[in-house]
Amino acid sequence: MKIAIIGGGISGLTTAFYIKKYRPEAEITLFEKESSLGGKMMTKNIDGFLFEEGSNGFLSNKPDTLELVKESGAEDLLMRSSDNARVRFIYKDALHQLPESPLAFLKTPLLSTLGKLRVAGEIFVPAKKDDYDETLQSFGYRRVGKEMTDAFLDPMVAGIFASSPDKISVNSAFPAVVKLEKEYGGLFKGMLKKKKKDAGPGGVLMSFKGGVSSFIDLLTNSLKIEIKTDVSIENLSKINQKYLLHVEGKTEEFDTVVLSTPAYESKEIVKQIDPQLSEMLDDIEYSPISVVGLGYNELSHKLQGFGLLTTSSAKKDVLGVLWDSSIFTDRAPKNKKALRVMIGGQRSPSLALKSEKELKEIAIKGAKETMGIDELPDVSYVKKWERGIPNYRVGHLEKMDKLFKRLGEHKGLYLSSNAYFGVGLNDCVGNSKKVAKKIVNDMF
Ligand SMILES: Cc1cc2nc3c(=O)[nH]c(=O)nc-3n(C[C@H](O)[C@H](O)[C@H](O)COP(=O)(O)OP(=O)(O)OC[C@H]3O[C@@H](n4cnc5c(N)ncnc54)[C@H](O)[C@@H]3O)c2cc1C
Repeated sequence: MKIAIIGGGISGLTTAFYIKKYRPEAEITLFEKESSLGGKMMTKNIDGFLFEEGSNGFLSNKPDTLELVKESGAEDLLMRSSDNARVRFIYKDALHQLPESPLAFLKTPLLSTLGKLRVAGEIFVPAKKDDYDETLQSFGYRRVGKEMTDAFLDPMVAGIFASSPDKISVNSAFPAVVKLEKEYGGLFKGMLKKKKKDAGPGGVLMSFKGGVSSFIDLLTNSLKIEIKTDVSIENLSKINQKYLLHVEGKTEEFDTVVLSTPAYESKEIVKQIDPQLSEMLDDIEYSPISVVGLGYNELSHKLQGFGLLTTSSAKKDVLGVLWDSSIFTDRAPKNKKALRVMIGGQRSPSLALKSEKELKEIAIKGAKETMGIDELPDVSYVKKWERGIPNYRVGHLEKMDKLFKRLGEHKGLYLSSNAYFGVGLNDCVGNSKKVAKKIVNDMF
């Protein structure tokens, strides 16, 4: 059984890992466009500062990534975020600590008394009767009110998805919250009942010593497969149940092909064999986001916490600032400090595409305006993602239903990436493991 996996991000690597685990005899070739693997999981070491270009880590409250880490022998690399980083901030009119307890919520200046009463009134809001999808904004306004949505959900969705509440599907991006309303009649009712049922620790942010790239390297080395880097696959054709890949002037034949590429790349690859599938893939939108790493040899700010996210109403050019060296202590050399500033997203897409020089200026200004940092960084690093994170629009799940039905017409062809059923690392790993199981069931 010859299998081609196209794309060497976490989705492609995980798919390869589990196919090999279940079927060691599988002959797998992985093709990656860039010179190194990892995709959105990439660490850059600039003078000892470790800047993540994309993902910082994953939450421990889902088992998927942790299992992969253990099974691939990378457990020694695991690094828990420091306890300091449990404190988070929101910048609205000023910097405010995110309330973590009911008492802190009562005291927070992030909401007016009326806004807080409206949140408490959620318990009386009747559950939505139909299953139609809606935006996070419409869900939030309906259940917890405008103030809470604008002050809490808006920065949160910018931080996780680089999106904004009016542009993202609540059913696709926050299925657990929708389930609370559907199963228990409301969020408070659901949380109270669930707490009684499965009280346990919440998730802790985990990462890897030396940054996420150290895990990618170890995972890659654990794979007994052929890996071809610097190879961009442009299209796919099919003859007699075999898929043909055209690589560097040669044609290679495979029984199974997994596209672990972003949807806008997969769309080009399948165009020849199924123009309709290609159109469906083209319909998946991506948000641009830029990441600016700032390294300071000396910084007076203590960075006691995880970092901050801004609200849209704050009208700042930055979506947030992550206090990286406080979250994971090895992200800056001893006694030095590192920040990462997020710019763009659906809130201000054009800002993400500014020049590197302008992005650095925006980041420095953002750190000054939100945190009062006057010092200039000694080191900086800019990573621009023109199409960084898939933005699941309203109706995304229905579209995916149709897309995967269509895909089912092509025996041996699979899709496995963050474009479909979740963008977090846990989702990518969990969904790729499912794809690997499906391949083993279908094809062996
Ligand atoms: C700025 C940022 C911050 C993030 N932070 C977090 C976080 O803290 N926690 C978290 O859980 N998630 C985070 N994410 C999301 C998470 O990192 C991604 O969803 C995940 O890494 C995507 O993995 P993937 O393998 O599906 O796709 P990708 O990482 O995009 O991998 C796709 C691969 O395919 C390759 N490729 C593309 N076209 C071709 C072609 N034609 N031929 C061959 N190869 C091709 C690409 O080069 C790439 O290596 C973040 C994302 C971004 C952008």
